Amino acid sequence: MISSKRTAWQRQRPACFYLEFEKSQPTLGQVSGLVADYISAQRHEAESHALNLSSAQIRLLQGFFRKDVLDTTRLLVLGVTRVENPPFYSLLREMGFKSLPDFSQMAAITFGDVVVSHQPVTTGLLFHELVHVEQYRQLGIRRFAELYVRGFFTGGGYDGIPLELKAYQLGERFRRSPQTPFSVELDVSAWIRDGRF
Ligand SMILES: [Zn+2]
Repeated sequence: MISSKRTAWQRQRPACFYLEFEKSQPTLGQVSGLVADYISAQRHEAESHALNLSSAQIRLLQGFFRKDVLDTTRLLVLGVTRVENPPFYSLLREMGFKSLPDFSQMAAITFGDVVVSHQPVTTGLLFHELVHVEQYRQLGIRRFAELYVRGFFTGGGYDGIPLELKAYQLGERFRRSPQTPFSVELDVSAWIRDGRF
């Protein structure tokens, strides 16, 4: 399981890597680079344990997501283990960054095209995470991380991250009318085009 051992990211980076930040506050670009590395490493670790969506899940969601997204997204439901927070969190906290998103307490987290859940997955939860998969598909991991970090710091925390706002907004639309199809792909691409993330 991914939280039972050190991540690939931690193994690859020497401890002195952190020293670069001790002299000055890291820039948003540096933090988002670290977040992108964390996402890629977690995706890599979870991927081999994850399974394809079930045909029942695909049937419920096929009116909203691209077929290739539903066919290739993988899902890992953890038992007692939790996703570990990024290894650079302790340094950010020491530097005064408060209220960082606590991944270990989230219901589920999406790393690229791999969804890792801490609980049995409901259709509503899966819908929310698949919006993130679509965002990753269109943006790539680097750009997604950049926009996520920027949204966190400029939006006043997790609730102000536009990537999250969009996922909650579309999830609510689905919850209200699960029989009325709409394209998450087009909605996400419109927000990217208009620079709203
Ligand atoms: Zn989310």
